[in-house]
Amino acid sequence: MIYLDNAATTPLSPIIRDHTLTAHDSLFANCSSLHPAGNRSNLAVSEAREKIAKVLGVEPAGVYFNSGATEGINTFLQGAARISSQQNNAKNEIIISQLEHPAVYQTVMFLRSIGFTVHEVKNNAIGKVDLEHLRSLMSPKTAYVTIMAVNNETGVIQDINAISKVIKHANKDTILFVDIVQALGKIDVQNFSSNADVMCFSGHKFGAPKGVGGIYINPTIRPFPILYGGDQEKSFRPGTINAPSIALMALAAEDRLVNLIKNNKHVGDLKTKMLSSLKEKGVKIRQIVPIESSSNYILSMSQPLRSDVLLSELAKFEICISKRSACSSNSHSKSRILESMGIDDNEIDRIVRISFSPENTQEQVETFSQVLASIVQ
Ligand code: PLP
Repeated sequence: MIYLDNAATTPLSPIIRDHTLTAHDSLFANCSSLHPAGNRSNLAVSEAREKIAKVLGVEPAGVYFNSGATEGINTFLQGAARISSQQNNAKNEIIISQLEHPAVYQTVMFLRSIGFTVHEVKNNAIGKVDLEHLRSLMSPKTAYVTIMAVNNETGVIQDINAISKVIKHANKDTILFVDIVQALGKIDVQNFSSNADVMCFSGHKFGAPKGVGGIYINPTIRPFPILYGGDQEKSFRPGTINAPSIALMALAAEDRLVNLIKNNKHVGDLKTKMLSSLKEKGVKIRQIVPIESSSNYILSMSQPLRSDVLLSELAKFEICISKRSACSSNSHSKSRILESMGIDDNEIDRIVRISFSPENTQEQVETFSQVLASIVQ
């Protein structure tokens, strides 16, 4: 099998594979139990918090563990909206980019249905947020702005520092929520983390197990829970803590930080080779976001066939890529994201997403290119 759908989810990193059984064996006890086994789990979670904070370049006190980004997004966006609208100087406006993941989009559409005003900031043809438009949408009533750091369909990278400047200049109380799911462990998140008030992530996008993730909330912001129960995670995320998976996620994140530059070069070389190899073989492709503006981990391109036809042909060779994102693969609607970039319907139908991991090889890329060329010609 050639697996090039790593933006959907990754296999376990080699380092995690080696530690999985040990983590589940030694950290099975409940973190809240006051016996030595419970203390061991608790300590492992504290260490994991320190490691994740180091990778993000933030204070450990702001890191909360949960089941992943969908939970983090829903919890924060719903909780913050509720609180902001109840304060004296009520804020009931929300700004999102047109590129947000369905977890953000559908959450704010729900908030719109119960009375919040939602503005969508425009982007240009390669998917970069229009800062002037953002400036014009800001108001004293803006509770928060959500912008993803790296887009999961196209790989476009946003300038979070510039976005933060525009927001804070207009209203220093407005919260900047950044979805770093496709950024953590892949680009240098420390480059912008001090300007992001809240960041959410999922472990399974960088080699950790599924069902574990986290959210960073700047400690100056009060976290607003939507779940009530135990006092785990300072009562922000009640429920028994998944110590083994949290420890494994921290290990995976740390490994990605140590190897950030090396991995980035490796996947960048794979992406360049993929493009040149397809061109050499005469396959007509168009890269949706130029190399310099996109993550090396994601290649979004149009090619001659309808994407669902290509995907089923590739499946015969055990080659896995995706149409756009895993969450929308069953949806027949057009991609909101590609439409917002002004791409016509005919080309949208022919766009595929190839997403790399550090474990992919040059040989796999060459085989993929040969197979794709033979299918389209
Ligand atoms: N945000 C982005 C950019 C994503 O790519 C994804 C998953 O594809 C999510 C949020 C949701 O993550 P999860 O499905 O792990 O909750």
